[in-house]
Amino acid sequence: MQENVHSVYSRGDPCGRPSEEGLRMQENEENVHSVYSRGDPHDLPSENHHPTRRIGRHMPTGSKPVKAAQIARQLGCNAIQIFASNPTGWRPPADNPQTSAAFAQAAREYNLVPVVIHAPYLINLASPDELIWDKSIALLTWTLLRAAQLGASYVVFHTGSHRGSGVEAGITRIVEALERILPITPPEVMLLLENDVGAGDSLGHSFEQLAAILHRLPQYADRLGICLDTAHLWGAGHDIGTPTSAYQVLAHFDETIGLSRLKVIHLNDTAMLLGSHRDVHTRLGEGIIGQEGLQTFLRDPRLEHVAILLETPIKTDEHDKEDWEHDKRHFERALALIQKP
Ligand SMILES: [Zn+2]
Ligand SMILES: [Zn+2]
Repeated sequence: MQENVHSVYSRGDPCGRPSEEGLRMQENEENVHSVYSRGDPHDLPSENHHPTRRIGRHMPTGSKPVKAAQIARQLGCNAIQIFASNPTGWRPPADNPQTSAAFAQAAREYNLVPVVIHAPYLINLASPDELIWDKSIALLTWTLLRAAQLGASYVVFHTGSHRGSGVEAGITRIVEALERILPITPPEVMLLLENDVGAGDSLGHSFEQLAAILHRLPQYADRLGICLDTAHLWGAGHDIGTPTSAYQVLAHFDETIGLSRLKVIHLNDTAMLLGSHRDVHTRLGEGIIGQEGLQTFLRDPRLEHVAILLETPIKTDEHDKEDWEHDKRHFERALALIQKP
């Protein structure tokens, strides 16, 4: 089990425990060539055989986001999520418009739409601590600005923890922070609140809490949406493991928030029990969420507008290199889950 848990955090898992390793990526050109025998992006096979749905994965970028886009395309993705900065750091990287523009162009060229940016974990808009709150506002503002340069449609962030100040106080802090951030950031980038497993004082594990934030900012209805992480739903106690229960969870979401506000689903299985408030992503079928329930959830015709992004751990070989062939097969498993018979 320990080994499994370790592997979960190695790569491709931006929503579990913060991990520096998440940023690292196998940059070995030779490895990529040996796996796919193609180095020229113009020779890439067209893998987007699922035109009606957008599906991709979180890609580690290292310092080579264009390479990450290229590999995503080779895996068969037509959507992508990346970090724009160190997910466990406060300091954003230096401005590099050329690198950002090159990524945006590559994503367009490879039909990776939408581009989604996962914000750093340290951001806590609910914090009662002034210093943390100010730093969180600054870093999320920076992330939205960089997201626009990267051609992103969405920035996903964790709603944070009230740190003992109470749910109401935490929600008010988030609302006040968003009132500062949204007017000064690019209107073309939406901010998505990600649901949480609800450990400790963290907010966003119930649909009611997420709705409370959105409903207090009606003037930003076109800038704010929701990202649902399936592993987080399960950890928070939302049973999406059977067709009936998954349907009920969607109905509850629709009543409290509205399905049109849902823009991204993070598709992950989990090793942790329903309602455990713990978060350990596993690959599809390697966790305990029933695949039939997940399938019902993902195939709902009301969710066709929603981009689906895997955040599952990427298998590595004995030399710590990503096994992209393995990941491509896993990606096909995800495609089968969303494909209607
Ligand atoms: Zn996340
Ligand atoms: Zn997630």
